[in-house]
Amino acid sequence: MIYNDFNGLKLSRLGFGCMRFALDPATGEIDQDKVNAMFELAYNSGVNYYDTAYPYLDGKSENAMAEALSRYPRDSYYIADKFPGHSLPGPIDNIALFNISLERCRTDYFDFYLLHNVTEWSVKIYESEEYHIIPDVLKMKEEGKIRHLGFSFHGGPDLLDELLTKYEGVFEFVQIQCNYLDWTLQDAKRKYDIITKHGLGVWVMEPCRGGKLANLPEEFSNRLKEFNPDASDASYAFRFLQGLPNIRMILSGMNEVFQVEDNLNTFKEYVPLTDAERDTLFEIAEGMKRGVPCTGCRYCCAGCPMELNIPYLLECYNDYKFSTSLTASMRIDGLDPDKRPSNCIGCGQCAHACPQGIDVPAALAELSDLYANGPTWAQAAKGRHESIKKDLGME
Ligand code: SF4
Ligand code: SF4
Repeated sequence: MIYNDFNGLKLSRLGFGCMRFALDPATGEIDQDKVNAMFELAYNSGVNYYDTAYPYLDGKSENAMAEALSRYPRDSYYIADKFPGHSLPGPIDNIALFNISLERCRTDYFDFYLLHNVTEWSVKIYESEEYHIIPDVLKMKEEGKIRHLGFSFHGGPDLLDELLTKYEGVFEFVQIQCNYLDWTLQDAKRKYDIITKHGLGVWVMEPCRGGKLANLPEEFSNRLKEFNPDASDASYAFRFLQGLPNIRMILSGMNEVFQVEDNLNTFKEYVPLTDAERDTLFEIAEGMKRGVPCTGCRYCCAGCPMELNIPYLLECYNDYKFSTSLTASMRIDGLDPDKRPSNCIGCGQCAHACPQGIDVPAALAELSDLYANGPTWAQAAKGRHESIKKDLGME
């Protein structure tokens, strides 16, 4: 296992993400025997970081992780959990919710604790005086119930830089979606550089983009097979990340034993990508993208009569075009209503200014439609509101 030092700790570079445990098709419950078997393999091969969150698998992930870890000494592994500020039904007793997580995880402290899913929208909740989340989390840290504090982040680079400047000394790490596709699609490179500039550690989620980079379309997979017919598609995604020195933790949401075995093999030793392999990964990423080639140069912005943040909106557009994730919807939710895509009046100034020849008004019209008719976080969060109320006895 490859390890790295983080603030005095020896962390395995591969972390076990507990968001995607396999469910027993007959009962719909987590297949605990399989989780135990995967953990045994990972633990015995040196994986010492296990990452869950209050809402994962409708609250069942924390229990399943705790059950699987109960066979090992508590001081031989690290637990990471998250506070679900983005899923709250309203201001609640934050400490009571934190204590539920501790209880489910069968521990009296978290080695790592994160504000979950910070975006341009959810940051307003996290920072709200009424919700009182950050002071309560800091209190838990002062009491020793949190050893290392960070946040997981799905917003844009500008907000990230702003937050790390504002909260200097508060957070030690930031978890971002990073892989060779999102390196450019979600500007993960800039986020990596910003976190590094602020002297914090980079944690990675979605190293294989929800499995898309582990099961590439045949034409792309065949290109990788030319380098090594025995190497998995996923191994290239991990080796790309292993080559970035400030990535201290790479979380993989494993749900099958063969995935654990394959990942352990990739993390046995660091084998740098060759230039040809790296170039091929970026070509594959370009081939997989849908949307527009906005470079974020902002030449279009000064003349927009509606003062829209065009590159920001096009980032959301590209995200929508790639998958139906709710991230883009949440990022638009975070904008003032008069800055959302529906405010584009189609004047065409931006299209004339754009060196990439992007038909911005057409993209924004489509984005407006996708946002209005696609799934929204508000819909997705309803079930979570109910379960949090139930857990806290608020009904
Ligand atoms: S077409 Fe829309 S985005 Fe472009 S400059 Fe005009 S109002 Fe702004
Ligand atoms: S000018 Fe074109 S490439 Fe530059 S930010 Fe605007 S839309 Fe993107």
